[in-house]
Amino acid sequence: MNNTILQLTRIVQQVALADSPATQVSLIVDSISDVIQADVCSLYRANEQQDMVLLASHGLKHKNVVTIPYAKGLVGLVAKSRHPVNVKDAAAHDHYYYLPQTQEEKFVSFCGVPLVLFGKVIGVLVVQSRVAELFSKESEGFLVALASQLALIVSNIPVDAKIEDQNDRHRGVKGAPGIGIGKVRLCLSGELNSVPDAQCDDIETSVSQWLQLLDAVKLDIQSEQSALGREMPDSVSAIFDAYGMLLDDQELIEKVSYEIRQGHWLPYALKMTIQHYVEIFHAMDDPYFRARAEDIAHLGNKLYNAWRGTKGVDVNHVDGPIILTGVQVSVSDMASVPVNQLAGIVCYEGSSLSHTAVLANAMGIPAVMGTGTLKSLVNGDELIVDGNEGQIILYPSDMVANEFKKLVQKEKSLKKQLSLLKDLPAQTTDGHVLELFTNTGLLADITPGLKSGAEGVGLYRTEIPFMVRDSFPSEDEQVQVYERVLQAYEHKPVYMRTLDIGGDKQLPYFPIHHEENPALGWRGIRFTLDNIQLLMTQVRAMIRAASGQDNLNILLPMVISTGELTTFLELLDDALSQLTEEGVSVSRPRVGVMVEVPAAISQIPLWAKYIDFISIGSNDLSQYLLALDRNNSRVAERYDHVHPAVLHEVNRIVRLAREHNLPLSLCGEMAADPVAVILLMGMGIQRLSMSAAKLPKIKYLIRSISLTQCKQILQQALCLESSEAIRARVNDCLEQTGFNQYMKNQQNNQES
Ligand code: PEP
Ligand code: MG
Repeated sequence: MNNTILQLTRIVQQVALADSPATQVSLIVDSISDVIQADVCSLYRANEQQDMVLLASHGLKHKNVVTIPYAKGLVGLVAKSRHPVNVKDAAAHDHYYYLPQTQEEKFVSFCGVPLVLFGKVIGVLVVQSRVAELFSKESEGFLVALASQLALIVSNIPVDAKIEDQNDRHRGVKGAPGIGIGKVRLCLSGELNSVPDAQCDDIETSVSQWLQLLDAVKLDIQSEQSALGREMPDSVSAIFDAYGMLLDDQELIEKVSYEIRQGHWLPYALKMTIQHYVEIFHAMDDPYFRARAEDIAHLGNKLYNAWRGTKGVDVNHVDGPIILTGVQVSVSDMASVPVNQLAGIVCYEGSSLSHTAVLANAMGIPAVMGTGTLKSLVNGDELIVDGNEGQIILYPSDMVANEFKKLVQKEKSLKKQLSLLKDLPAQTTDGHVLELFTNTGLLADITPGLKSGAEGVGLYRTEIPFMVRDSFPSEDEQVQVYERVLQAYEHKPVYMRTLDIGGDKQLPYFPIHHEENPALGWRGIRFTLDNIQLLMTQVRAMIRAASGQDNLNILLPMVISTGELTTFLELLDDALSQLTEEGVSVSRPRVGVMVEVPAAISQIPLWAKYIDFISIGSNDLSQYLLALDRNNSRVAERYDHVHPAVLHEVNRIVRLAREHNLPLSLCGEMAADPVAVILLMGMGIQRLSMSAAKLPKIKYLIRSISLTQCKQILQQALCLESSEAIRARVNDCLEQTGFNQYMKNQQNNQES
């Protein structure tokens, strides 16, 4: 076996890129038997009863369905013991289980390894040979490594062997609730910035590939230019000209070839070159040349996507509902589709707390994340996104599509029922009133917030208007955006958060160099204090936008030290005096911090004299307390904001806020989870902020329970040892209060 890592990567990539589950399984068994030189390679998949169903085999006959009952045979032994079994003579083993239809008696030795996903055995990979010899340690190790890489892909392959079934279901994780039915629009454009380094295996071929790529992109640009024809405005025409000039630039061409010759693979050589030019242009004084940095970065992405054979999302000439689908669906992809046409989102990567999911929640768009790559999809394919169950259905049959259409109708009816609550207070049955606010970030979601009866904006994520643009918005442009929000919520509080980029939120035009640990890196207030000119512009814009009103509150993300807070307060003073000198009528906004890094909790008493309020960012707080990356679909199932550790800390924050007279709200996804809300109410939280789409349901919940009940349940929950036990306890109560039943009934009424 030569170069194991390369072989392994090649197989995983080929399988991931295969068009259909049938091709995927045959690729797996054929390539493994080829690499290991085994006479047989078979792939078994566990069904619901944990029996092993033979999905594909290179070498065994399996015309009809072959199933090995649970724990039977050597395959069963691998699955049950959860470790590899490597034997020289299978028939002599106690666990041998003969499958006559496969004619496997010809094969003597056996080596099987389990396929494990999230701690569960989902299948077994087996190799067999005619020779009575153990498979080498190297081959066994190769199978173990490959099995761990393939588990996610195999988990998406249907177990019932109806691989050609029209209703191709794929599981992912719940991103945003609801059901969307529509046609796929692929967002496959990759970000050159995120390309990792890799060694170049064949330098000369890569250099000539680079030259061919240049020619191909030049042709592409010419045809795009002529397709636009005479109607093209000057500004667009200038961009095409700039691309053309850059593609002919000898220095750029040579630099990429040079980097390849240094041993980097083509995409990374391109990334280094483009970053080099972006930095040079960024540093120029002349604004015209500075803006060219953007053209270069775009061109870099264009070249990279041409190399990958992919294009950005194109929704021109598409009628009807659209499901945006891709490795990641960016905020700009979402912004490129008219809101009333966007029916759903599917991301191959990411978890329920990735920024795309948060945004989908905010807009009320059903989303499923972390489905694994769905290479067979093409633009126009029919797809159902079931955000309630975290699944998608490709190519649904008419019968299945009709069932889902009925569900969509039921959901609509529930929404209508809940909308009747709009003007009623969020008051418990024993008379305690809570305030319900909305989270926003797009101008498009101001109206849904108001319609749902939100009493203010608990979190305005200012990074979103920054993310949907090609360059930093100017102070005047920011004023216009903020003004619309502050005016729409006149006399109601608006909590505007300063720019919170970094981590999973990147600006396309301000690439942050690769960080080993972006979640622990240059993000939130760390980023803005280091780029204080951006923060000054933003704060000035907020104050100007609030001129003549008294509803601006400034919220600071990711604060961990008093120094960050006092530096910000000095900047705020400076901004206020600058604007006063300029003749703007200003009023000092209230300032508070997001408590979202565990370090902030113990500092609350010290910060009380500097700040006016605090807001719990339960998404980040849970991610940092549990050390679970909120974007990693491999660990998404372990994440739960009602984990006992999170509950105890949130309870501590509420207590500290009360002791120090700091108004408190909670604005993470926890605020929209009925189970968590009961517990938060028990702690004494008075204000919750969530996406507009979820607000009516939470209001209904609050109106159906007493504060006394919530306090009792909280005391019990704080003594429980797991999220599951806590959820079960609170769910009992939701059953008793009739909340769960009400939600079901509303849906069923529509059906009858
Ligand atoms: C949070 O962390 O809970 C929060 C609301 O902020 P973000 O925008 O990072 O989700
Ligand atoms: Mg956060």
